[in-house]
Amino acid sequence: MGDKPYRVGRSRTGLGLFATEPIRKHTLIVEYSGPRIATAQAQKRERAGRSKFMFEISNRWTIDGAGRDNIGRYANHACKPNAESMLLRGKIFLKAIRRIQPGEEITYDYGREYVKLFFTSGCKCASCRK
Ligand SMILES: [Zn+2]
Repeated sequence: MGDKPYRVGRSRTGLGLFATEPIRKHTLIVEYSGPRIATAQAQKRERAGRSKFMFEISNRWTIDGAGRDNIGRYANHACKPNAESMLLRGKIFLKAIRRIQPGEEITYDYGREYVKLFFTSGCKCASCRK
């Protein structure tokens, strides 16, 4: 990846990831990076409310994405997202599922479990606010 087609900026709910250039459908935008830890341990920490950045890749391994150098963690949840997560050779990437215009916030669906666990006062994404 040469010049990055995104930046971290202010969103409605804190920080978010925004396109700075048109991003074509199917483009791998950014990696969701971090050390691998055992999924059992990750779930324990998550349930204790100590981490919101666990990304489960299998029932054995989870990516701990809490590091600030993990740009993928800035992408917010949306129920009608423009990107999705995908597993490629043991790494997680966010991939565009449609064309994304400059200035648009890059979002993906965090999944039902995450929403239940962390969005205790309901989802605040653009489509749920309507
Ligand atoms: Zn929503």
